[in-house]
Amino acid sequence: MACIFCRIAAGEIPANVVARGDGVLAFRDVNPQAPTHVLVIPTQHVPSSGHLPVSERAAVFGAVMQLAVEVAAQLGLAEPGYRLVVNTGVDGGQSVDHLHVHLLGGRRMHWPPG
Ligand code: AMP
Repeated sequence: MACIFCRIAAGEIPANVVARGDGVLAFRDVNPQAPTHVLVIPTQHVPSSGHLPVSERAAVFGAVMQLAVEVAAQLGLAEPGYRLVVNTGVDGGQSVDHLHVHLLGGRRMHWPPG
């Protein structure tokens, strides 16, 4: 059984898709933590930020971050600002083991995060 984000990428289960790119997909988080909460993923299965071969890191992170920044602009967040988050592993609070960037915006963020 493929992971849930692989199944979203394959179109097997529905998601509120906001943008697509070459090997990357952006869709709304089902449990939003801010007025705008979008997840950006590589369509290939990568368990976490620590699991990419060195030779693929620049391309995959570049593509994911590029789409995240583009979606932020499309959704009107460029000027007020936004936050990009990559939870990794248990201490990082990662709950879905498929690399994803959270795009959060539409309210003032707090620091330090919880
Ligand atoms: P993380 O805790 O960083 O691994 O984030 C995983 C995120 O995936 C959480 O914010 C969940 O709300 C979100 N999520 C889980 N399942 C789905 C789904 N089927 N569609 C959209 N977002 C999801």
